[in-house]
Amino acid sequence: MAKVIVVGGGAAGLVAAWRAASLGHAVTLLEANGRLGVKLRISGGGKCNITHDGPPKALMAAFPVEQARFLRPALHAFDNRAVLELLRREGVDTYARDNGRVFPQDRPGSAAAVVAAFEALVRRAGVAVRTGDRVTALEGREPRMIALRVGDERLAADAFILATGGASYPETGTRGEVLGWLKQLGVPVKPWFPALAPIPLLRSRPGWEGVALRDGELRLSAGPQGRRLGAFAGDVVFTKVGISGPAALELSQAVEGARRGGAAWLAYASRLDTPEAVDASLQAEARAHPRLLAATWLQRHLPERLVGPLLDEAGVDRALMLKDLSKAARKALVGLITALPLGEPQPVPLARGEVAAGGVDLAAVDARTMALRGWENLRVCGELLDVDGPVGGYNLQAAFSTGYAAGTI
Ligand SMILES: Cc1cc2nc3c(=O)[nH]c(=O)nc-3n(C[C@H](O)[C@H](O)[C@H](O)COP(=O)(O)OP(=O)(O)OC[C@H]3O[C@@H](n4cnc5c(N)ncnc54)[C@H](O)[C@@H]3O)c2cc1C
Repeated sequence: MAKVIVVGGGAAGLVAAWRAASLGHAVTLLEANGRLGVKLRISGGGKCNITHDGPPKALMAAFPVEQARFLRPALHAFDNRAVLELLRREGVDTYARDNGRVFPQDRPGSAAAVVAAFEALVRRAGVAVRTGDRVTALEGREPRMIALRVGDERLAADAFILATGGASYPETGTRGEVLGWLKQLGVPVKPWFPALAPIPLLRSRPGWEGVALRDGELRLSAGPQGRRLGAFAGDVVFTKVGISGPAALELSQAVEGARRGGAAWLAYASRLDTPEAVDASLQAEARAHPRLLAATWLQRHLPERLVGPLLDEAGVDRALMLKDLSKAARKALVGLITALPLGEPQPVPLARGEVAAGGVDLAAVDARTMALRGWENLRVCGELLDVDGPVGGYNLQAAFSTGYAAGTI
């Protein structure tokens, strides 16, 4: 029996502590917050999108290739079915939505029920839980970690599992400082980088807050006429300072990369046909319904609230009929639905991401055990690793699976 300290009482740490204690080790779980699972409690808007439905292979395919390769053994050892079975035995029934996202059965505070289930597992397994204890330093040198510090207190152990999460939503306890300490110890790390975050725009449209652009694609390019750098199909919602919604979140990491590279420009294509094809259909419409207002035609593709202001910006009279459209006006209308310019992004906030990209370099970690290479008694798991999946339950599953691997001591 080894004395094990797990740092971080989130998704990964809870599973790691439960697993290690179940295997007979004497486990202490240290959590900076006054209670466990604070980020889990706000996940999925308080409903907690626990995982994603489907075989491990499909889950892996959602991650970037190198991350998928890394996650493979952990996902196979403790997959989505294993997580859901564990929760079911603790009284949390779940269901998969049509889009594959798995949630607890609808009831108020369902995310809290998930935390309660993990907490019950951990306590029953005999884990000594210490909340309100923020680790302030690591003591050790390759190849051995010797102790941790919690203020003036020094805590020694045989093995250490770091599950301190990422660096977004710092108010949930995740400030990302442990990554800096690991770097000082010579562990290869990648700096924190924003991901799954809303995108502020240089030209925000506070009056459009809440309005959604639907069924199209958010496109990132190197400038208004620049090279295409990325795209994501899905909805976008205007916020007070920019855009949010699925497509904005998923593209935010690439947007920040392009922005730091010096050239980022965003546009939304509400129709995915070529401008030529849309122009042809507009001309056909003008022949069939010459007295139709250009504004009415535009409303078929864009939210009503945006149509007037956008026509004004494009210099097209709001009362213009299709029969009177000039070539330039036609081009402007087509442009609004095939590439509505959203313009230059502002810095994407790390703090507002549903996940933080970056973390411990995967090349430095044994994918089966989460042990740091070169270290005998130090493991890392969860978002502290350089793993960041898309929205849809993937990030929690990655935390559960890597936590399980780390706890299998
Ligand atoms: C708003 C929001 C919604 C989300 N919704 C979903 C969702 O529905 N589905 C999904 O799959 N993912 C979701 N995510 C992402 C997911 O919650 C995280 O990827 C996941 O919680 C990571 O688990 P973790 O255990 O690695 O880290 P965390 O759950 O963040 O836990 C880390 C813990 O370590 C503690 N800690 C940090 N530093 C120290 C220290 N020095 N000493 C002691 N303790 C420390 C922190 O207080 C924290 O409790 C969401 C994220 C956010 C922000």
